[in-house]
Amino acid sequence: MITRTSAALQSDSTSPDDPASEAVPLTPRQHRQDWQAQLRDAVRDPHELCRRLDLDTAWLGGAETGHALFPVRVPHAYLARIRPGDPDDPLLRQVLPLDRESEPVAGFVGDPLEEAEHRPRPGLIHKYRNRVLLIASPACAINCRYCFRRHFPYAENSPSRGQWETTLDYLRQDTSINEAIFSGGDPLASPDRRLAWLAERLADIPHLKRLRLHTRLPVVIPDRVDSALLDWLAATRLQTVMVVHINHPNEIDAGVADAMQRLRGAGVTLLNQSVLLRGVNDDVETLARLSERLFEVGILPYYLHVLDPVEGAAHFDVPDAEAVSLVETLRTRLAGFLMPRLVREVPGEASKTPLA
Ligand code: SF4
Repeated sequence: MITRTSAALQSDSTSPDDPASEAVPLTPRQHRQDWQAQLRDAVRDPHELCRRLDLDTAWLGGAETGHALFPVRVPHAYLARIRPGDPDDPLLRQVLPLDRESEPVAGFVGDPLEEAEHRPRPGLIHKYRNRVLLIASPACAINCRYCFRRHFPYAENSPSRGQWETTLDYLRQDTSINEAIFSGGDPLASPDRRLAWLAERLADIPHLKRLRLHTRLPVVIPDRVDSALLDWLAATRLQTVMVVHINHPNEIDAGVADAMQRLRGAGVTLLNQSVLLRGVNDDVETLARLSERLFEVGILPYYLHVLDPVEGAAHFDVPDAEAVSLVETLRTRLAGFLMPRLVREVPGEASKTPLA
């Protein structure tokens, strides 16, 4: 069934204007809040989302349907970058639930990367040689509608401190592992004291060289990059790499630019991974502007993922042939170091699979 909502979201048009031009202003109270208060205050109701963004009430039914499957969560700092009254806004498309999320589509499944096969300990995913993922938080600051972990069993993968010791033993015993990756959910949704504790335990393992963080929080709530975070990042003996997740240049406002500068000041290497999303960034102009903007704020484009086929997100899919063609054209527009690698994650493969 193609509804008014989903049909509109399938259109190829994008809205490349400056996101700040018609943004929803933050109230003075929201400006003063720390990141945890901003997290608590995130919009979690589809009615409020539509009301605050001045969307036609025709969007409500679909928003309620999608919300029942995977709840709405949008912090005000991100909401402020969405143009009110514009259902085609590329940031809105990433967070607005739709009725078609409930439609079954062949090939789109609950665990598209078969991660259940690679969880040897609570909170640990070991897919690739030399590196492991630690589910450092079950929560996210924002619920992206295309998330490949939207059905992940977080309740079974939220280790207590005692369980972390079992997981850390696994790392101690496998000397081939040289990198630990904080993932989630969003690892930075955890308090810094917990992250600092885990980072210290990891730093005690002699064969570990790097700590990587996969996070969207500094993008959606730039105030997350506060002194408590910077202190433990700067203190660890491990080399720190942060892979942020930005899909559209409108996501990078002055707050994000400042947050990235603070991270670089703490010695963190910054990379970005994007997902190629129908109706969000599936055109050369947007992808070129994204790479340029990332580099302006000190982030290197790293991966452009094709969509993982997760149940509820089929409307974001861009066929491989179209993705390859986009990237080949993009290559004629950008310096080599600004080109993200187009990849797919194939369950069971020893690494990501390059497509172009
Ligand atoms: S922030 Fe990342 S993990 Fe969280 S919903 Fe978005 S894509 Fe998924």
